[in-house]
Amino acid sequence: MLGVLKPTEPKATRMSDATPVLPWSDLLLALPEFDLLHAEVINDELIVTVELPRDVQACPSCGTIELHRVHDRRWHRLRHLPVAGRACRLVWHKRLLSCVEGCGTFVERTPSVMPGSVWTRPAARAAVAMSAENIPVDTIRKKFGVGWNTVMRAVTAAAAMLVSCSPTRVGIDETVFTSGRLLTRRRVYTTGLVCLDCTSVVGVAKGRDKAVAGRLLADHAPDAIVVTCDLFSGFKAAAADTDATVVADVFHVVRLAVRMIDQVRRRRQNAIHGHRGRKGDWLYDHRAVLRVGQERLDQDKIDRLAQGLLEVDTESEVGAAWHAADLLRRVYRAADRDTAHRRLIDFYWWAAAVNVPEITTFAQTLNQWQEEVLAYFDTRATNGPTESANVKIKNIRRAARGFSNFDNFQARIKLHAGQPRSVPTTPRLRSYTTPIAA
Ligand SMILES: [Zn+2]
Ligand SMILES: [Zn+2]
Repeated sequence: MLGVLKPTEPKATRMSDATPVLPWSDLLLALPEFDLLHAEVINDELIVTVELPRDVQACPSCGTIELHRVHDRRWHRLRHLPVAGRACRLVWHKRLLSCVEGCGTFVERTPSVMPGSVWTRPAARAAVAMSAENIPVDTIRKKFGVGWNTVMRAVTAAAAMLVSCSPTRVGIDETVFTSGRLLTRRRVYTTGLVCLDCTSVVGVAKGRDKAVAGRLLADHAPDAIVVTCDLFSGFKAAAADTDATVVADVFHVVRLAVRMIDQVRRRRQNAIHGHRGRKGDWLYDHRAVLRVGQERLDQDKIDRLAQGLLEVDTESEVGAAWHAADLLRRVYRAADRDTAHRRLIDFYWWAAAVNVPEITTFAQTLNQWQEEVLAYFDTRATNGPTESANVKIKNIRRAARGFSNFDNFQARIKLHAGQPRSVPTTPRLRSYTTPIAA
């Protein structure tokens, strides 16, 4: 018999025999200051009657802290945190006290319950935590059995109390706030300012122009030394008014190059075949592989593509665009600013030599942004964290099915995307074990 590993069974104890170390009101309700008088379950809802122990209270008029005379009792019914998954209704048997100095009567007070409130402070805190996890306000109010406005007020108050970090490296980007009614097609944008170090949204404002971006930078990032943005001149102009270094985002620059290839390819497709791309047309069949960086293709593949381009496009315009995009990608592979600058000049030479309209336009854009493109090699800053925060902002909009009130949108953004993530983890009871032998 191998019974050695069997654990010793604990002696059976009845609930009534157990002496809790915590008071029942703390163990069940996390409200240690109350005495639990009665609890019952009606319609799958826990109804708990509580009262405060008879103790000194401060008179709200004269401030006298004393064991005031009990004048009468009042019932205060309110919502509390669910207990073991069951909705909980708290019935507080409140004393109406009469001041010993003769100022009149007042009711008992405790920090866990605001006077006249429909829910307890722990419940409101839990609701705010749910909102920070991007659970819609409508779902939260159903869970707690309170009104939508009650939850939204708690969310707004919590968001107003949040202090964001004082960022030195920031990114700017815009998001659609509302696309408006179908008939008017009104699009309202919001501009967001994101800390590149902790990926949290430090400020949002309605609109997307130089003035909005400038105000955001002045209010939320006065100490910024690096500002990244996509190729939008309004953001660049706003950032140029500060002392910060402006960096054009790598992803957006390379995306412009890829779009430029597509534009040339579509134009040549029409010129060669007289119709839009369809299956069987060489240019159409190879549209995806032409967008791939040449550094990710093997030499054999590059040779075959170059050969195909020569045969199909006798003007070699698509090939020229393909090579121009590769020259730009080479700029970003440079180890330092000087090398990058030299490679950028190589790109300009190529653009001037081939004289394809789309490549010329792209080269002109890059020329306007040259300082910001090269600033990447001094700072290595990208808009990646900004785009990550943008996804969170979009998720908030989706979870809420859109917003009509910008202030509510702003409060939800602050809670969900405006603070560095710190998800408290419950310790695991069982950990993964590695098998020692097969
Ligand atoms: Zn008094
Ligand atoms: Zn930060």
